Amino acid sequence: MPVEEASPAIVLRTRDYSESDRIVTLLTREFGKLSGIAKGAKVSRRRFERKLEVFSHVMLYFRRRPHGDLVFITRAESASLPSLELADDLAKIALGSYMVELADALTREEAEAAAAYQILVDSLSAISHHGARVALRQAYELNMLRWAGYGLEFARCRACSREPGPEVTSVAFIPSRGGIVCRLCRDSLGGVAVSLTPVSAATLARLGTISIADAANEDGAGADAKLAIARFIASIVDRKLRSLEFLDSLA
Ligand SMILES: [Zn+2]
Repeated sequence: MPVEEASPAIVLRTRDYSESDRIVTLLTREFGKLSGIAKGAKVSRRRFERKLEVFSHVMLYFRRRPHGDLVFITRAESASLPSLELADDLAKIALGSYMVELADALTREEAEAAAAYQILVDSLSAISHHGARVALRQAYELNMLRWAGYGLEFARCRACSREPGPEVTSVAFIPSRGGIVCRLCRDSLGGVAVSLTPVSAATLARLGTISIADAANEDGAGADAKLAIARFIASIVDRKLRSLEFLDSLA
């Protein structure tokens, strides 16, 4: 029998598999994203002390199966991990759902993702303590995108590195470039742009460089910034994020 392995993990999604079994996808600290079958998850309180539901933060125990993609989940325990309490507030549930769906979209099964796991834990923990703040959403998006290899540039022109001067009244974010461009470069580069106020661009530049915990005390950027990031994410993920509609409907 394969050895039992273990890792802290956050549940990203679940689906029922049979009367008592559940297929669970988790972002683990040690093994990246894993999907497994939890036999008896809907009935066994002993093996699954903490329920395997979206946002559950668990110590996951599993065995690999010789054939097939799914691991066999043997146990899930609390193991002194901070629990992520989101269920008391609809806005927290909406933002948390978006965070786990984006994490799911940006990770691949069994590819190393320890830093992504930490960003997700820190972000869900921050919204459970501070509420569904716009700054936390934006800091999460920028941190996760950077982890996935998409560091967005809001401080200076992506092409010539010039910083917007005090005379600038709006800056152009070009999703296909992953950053803002100055007026001079804009003409030669082309591409569809989202217009940002200088304040929004500066706020995103700052939120992209501070920790999630520090972002909890910051103000978020405006609707223009939300649109710019959403356009960029839509251009790189291979699916429509279903939680986004719900999240935006609450705003
Ligand atoms: Zn330029």
